[in-house]
Amino acid sequence: MSEQDCIFCKITNGQIESEMLYRNDNIFVIRDINPKAPVHLLIIPSQHITSLVSSGAHQTSNFGQMLVVAEKMARKERVEVSGYRLILNQGPDSGQDLVHIHLHLLGGHRLTSM
Ligand code: 5GP
Ligand code: ZN
Repeated sequence: MSEQDCIFCKITNGQIESEMLYRNDNIFVIRDINPKAPVHLLIIPSQHITSLVSSGAHQTSNFGQMLVVAEKMARKERVEVSGYRLILNQGPDSGQDLVHIHLHLLGGHRLTSM
């Protein structure tokens, strides 16, 4: 999928409207349109990174920032004490739907153990 057809690229450049819960120069956060838990956020790099394999060491900063933002959002959503799960789907077996890398933050009730 090219950047032109990518939903998250369209959201970050304003072609598709979506409430931004947080945004900095590199990362933005939206609520998942089909939530799997009371709190279900998507933490997304603004850059169209399609795979951990292709991302390489130069993306370390983006991935580090995604975790920092996740922790910030967990506090904002008041799940930092009750707990939450971060998921990054990668490839067909994971059920990844959108190729633009993103981190799911799930919380707000007890999640089934893995
Ligand atoms: P994946 O399966 O690729 O890890 O997750 C993609 C997620 O994006 C899914 O949980 C899906 O509900 C969510 N999603 C798909 N399209 C949209 C959209 O247009 N807006 C929002 N906010 N979430 C979306
Ligand atoms: Zn994209």
